[in-house]
Amino acid sequence: MQSRKFLDYTLSLAKQGIRKYKVFGATFFQKGCKEDCKKILDIYSEHLYTIYMKERNIIHIDADAFFASVEKSLNPVLRDKPVIVGGDENQRACVHTASYEARMCGVKTGMPIQMAKKLCPEAVCLKGDFRRYRAVSETIKKILYRITPYVEVSSLDDVYIDVTGFKRFFDSIYKVTNYIKSEIYEELKITVSIGAATSKLVARIASARNKPDGITIVPSGMEKEFIAKLPVSELPGIGRVSERLLKGIGIKTIGDITKVSRDLLIQLFGINGKKIWEYANCIDNSPVKAKVISKQISRETSFEEDTDNEEIIIGTIAYLSERIAYKLRENCWVCGSVRLKLLFSDNVNTAHSRVLSEVTDDSGIIFKEIMRIYKKIHFRRICLRLVSVAVGKIERKYRQAILFQNESKKERLNEKIDTVRYKFGFTSVYPANTMPLKTKYRMEKHGYILHAPSLSQ
Ligand SMILES: [Mg+2]
Repeated sequence: MQSRKFLDYTLSLAKQGIRKYKVFGATFFQKGCKEDCKKILDIYSEHLYTIYMKERNIIHIDADAFFASVEKSLNPVLRDKPVIVGGDENQRACVHTASYEARMCGVKTGMPIQMAKKLCPEAVCLKGDFRRYRAVSETIKKILYRITPYVEVSSLDDVYIDVTGFKRFFDSIYKVTNYIKSEIYEELKITVSIGAATSKLVARIASARNKPDGITIVPSGMEKEFIAKLPVSELPGIGRVSERLLKGIGIKTIGDITKVSRDLLIQLFGINGKKIWEYANCIDNSPVKAKVISKQISRETSFEEDTDNEEIIIGTIAYLSERIAYKLRENCWVCGSVRLKLLFSDNVNTAHSRVLSEVTDDSGIIFKEIMRIYKKIHFRRICLRLVSVAVGKIERKYRQAILFQNESKKERLNEKIDTVRYKFGFTSVYPANTMPLKTKYRMEKHGYILHAPSLSQ
């Protein structure tokens, strides 16, 4: 393809959104015109970049005093009290998270608990429970998936989402951010701070500007102005050492960095200097990376002793289907096929799969389909040693944005079940057909302790 034609084409695609352009770029590379294409990209990248930046809408969501807020949300007695998570007061441990009440007394992250307790004697010190925080983090992710599939979890309590094109569903970016805040509060009773901008970098800086419970929106074109007056320490990647170095040459604010040459920063900081210069100039086109979807989810267990007890076998299949469906919903995925594998006591195994007529994340449907296979393949009069249930053809679950009225009753029920499980443990709700397992296995809050522990997730 001639360069001119290619350029016109890429520019026209770029105007519609960089993603298409990137896809085109990739196909073009494959056709063997790599060098030519690269040259054009170099010359015009800045231009393309400007168009792209204007079109992106990135939101950064950061939960306020996350661990402490989760503890408060789960225990109303703590609601107005200063809470410190990290260890109990007699332990030699450090503060991991302090609630805002404790912070007001001077408690800081990393401080020894005993010192924190002296500063804030009425503070409640807790060891914390990572599993709980992860469950809340998963729920936040799920809420965000209702808006967009482009969700990138940066850590347990901060997430980026790309809502480019939100205008189809919301009037303004403010409405998007407000919707996120109110949904998270409604479901989890924790507050978050939100930043919205045209890049991940600026959205992240913005979310930290108005904590706790704040929203900061940086309109397109205002990014540089917005970060210019902030101290250099607000820029990601600048620690205490770099801050001191910069101060040494008279650079105090991010705006000051933009006044020096890139080469000088490279001399000072090596390869990081380039990044610092780019960040200070609001150049950040890193995409929001959505989670890679698993190809298959499987759950299996062997029996304590080989069994032909139908109640136990069917109960186990129901339980494993339930675990799989829970995992699917946790990730906002649906599956399009199911598979059952049986291993008999004479070591003969048999497996069969079925393609579903419609994708699903419902354990009832998965179980029903698995049972159809079971009836087909379990005809040998021999005891079973192991059952394995798996789902495949997994894809992201798309909903009609926020038009929840289209949701089926079943979906609403599943959502409620997940909420109850998040609060009281997996086994707080379980299907009746898994009851026979109670006679065989110990039931803990997060599930049955099956015979093969590594398989009982
Ligand atoms: Mg946070």
